[in-house]
Amino acid sequence: FRVPVIDNEPMRNYAPGSAERAGLQAAVDKMLSQAPFEVPCIIDGKTIKTGDVQTQIMPHDHARVLAKYHAATPELVQQAIDGALKAKTAWEELPWADRAAIFLKAADLIAGKYRYELMAATMLGQGKNAWQAEIDAAAELCDFFRFSVKYVEELYAQQPPRNSAGVWNRTEFRPLEGFVLAVTPFNFTAIGGNLVGAPVIVGNVCVWKPSPMATYSNFLVHKILLEAGMPPSVIQFVPGDAPKVVQQCIDSPKFASLHFTGSTHVFRDLWKKIASNLDIYKGYPRIVGETGGKNFHLYHPSADIQSGVVQAIRAAFEYSGQKCSALARVYVPRSLWEGGFQQTLVEQVNKITIGPCTSWDHFTGPVIAKHSFDKITGIIEKAKKDGGEVIAGGKWDDSKGFFVQPTVIVTKDPKSVSMTQEIFGPVMTVYVYEDADFESTCELIDTTTEYGLTGSIFATDRLALQRAAHLLRNAAGNFYINDKCTGAVVGQQPFGGARASGTNDKSGSINIFYRFISARSVKENF
Ligand code: GLU
Repeated sequence: FRVPVIDNEPMRNYAPGSAERAGLQAAVDKMLSQAPFEVPCIIDGKTIKTGDVQTQIMPHDHARVLAKYHAATPELVQQAIDGALKAKTAWEELPWADRAAIFLKAADLIAGKYRYELMAATMLGQGKNAWQAEIDAAAELCDFFRFSVKYVEELYAQQPPRNSAGVWNRTEFRPLEGFVLAVTPFNFTAIGGNLVGAPVIVGNVCVWKPSPMATYSNFLVHKILLEAGMPPSVIQFVPGDAPKVVQQCIDSPKFASLHFTGSTHVFRDLWKKIASNLDIYKGYPRIVGETGGKNFHLYHPSADIQSGVVQAIRAAFEYSGQKCSALARVYVPRSLWEGGFQQTLVEQVNKITIGPCTSWDHFTGPVIAKHSFDKITGIIEKAKKDGGEVIAGGKWDDSKGFFVQPTVIVTKDPKSVSMTQEIFGPVMTVYVYEDADFESTCELIDTTTEYGLTGSIFATDRLALQRAAHLLRNAAGNFYINDKCTGAVVGQQPFGGARASGTNDKSGSINIFYRFISARSVKENF
């Protein structure tokens, strides 16, 4: 069979007075009136309530609970692993067309029937406004599922180009032996879907440990996959205490792979734990992770100020800076800074309003949790103490929700704390360089942090663009020219970074699927 033509899911714009806006608003209102929801463990398709109940609050209004989830017990985690392994043979032997159909159907359910519900869960639970929820829980999640089908079809088609006389050579793309553990983040509902979807579509079974701060939207994604026809035990939904669930999974001799998005520090720690367990495994586990970043915009003196400022504001402050790709470090030449960049930036940032994600009137909303709020505000304070100047924002309030005003810090020290440490909040730090130092600033950017996720160069001078692209060739897995450093689109800009930012296996491309297969070459003599 041939995969149907795949395209990116069209984005809706939720204009005032539109049916789309009314539809989403109704879903949000309904969810607010029905919360809190119960989120059970789902093992072998069965709903299991353990009674060990934890809460997922609404970050814009932290007195309100969106969901009460049941944390898995060690016995349940074991059941999840055993059940998944039992389901494995039937799943991997299911004709590829049937596996593909499940993902195509799930994408259609997300694009249609469940769009607003899934967006509402992402808004209320993960603090996104409507447009950020549309990008994530509607468009990107559909794209991940649909493009996976296309990429896996291309992968399976890759057969050896030569057969000698009387011989037929072929390659079978088998799944891994064992199970995949997906440890998924709060910041993108779509990433949760993809971290389980990518291994499963090529025939693996998976234990899904969702972020405690995204349990409700992730539970809905799991439910949608079941409704689309996913056999019940192929993806086991196991919320709970992250360190315990994860440790138990990697201590299983059947552990075959970790698919992870989260912090650099946790990823490194897991890598070491997996390494120390190597002797108990049958093979070498595939460790695939996307982690932190300290992403940059570099402006050349030839850059356009107006669009450069708009892109910086969007990259740093949309979703309150909680994308892994969010802009953190801004390098501006003195001529541009004094020639209008600073003024435009401050004027524009001062106009930004923040507020509940349920409102249509705000550019951005809260940060996810108290620990993030404390970390972000602590770094701003530290940056000030170290001589950083706050030129916009710098205010916060967590009396109702976890709100931090978009903040711009100017520093004279390019290695200061807010220039080097990942903040994961709405804070950009600007370093003004002398125009003549463009090349050494590229080197500075390259060597300042351990990360290599996203970055942008803004210039109209072609030679400067070329020079920056060369000098920064290892500094960003996603490199943008005259565009912001966030917003990679599945099927268009494969996403991922190297260095401390991850294994750079590029989600949203064919590359990622190679990590979850163990191919068999077959030679047959006629
Ligand atoms: N793919 C998203 C982007 O390009 C970021 C994903 C993430 O936060 O991990 O903005």
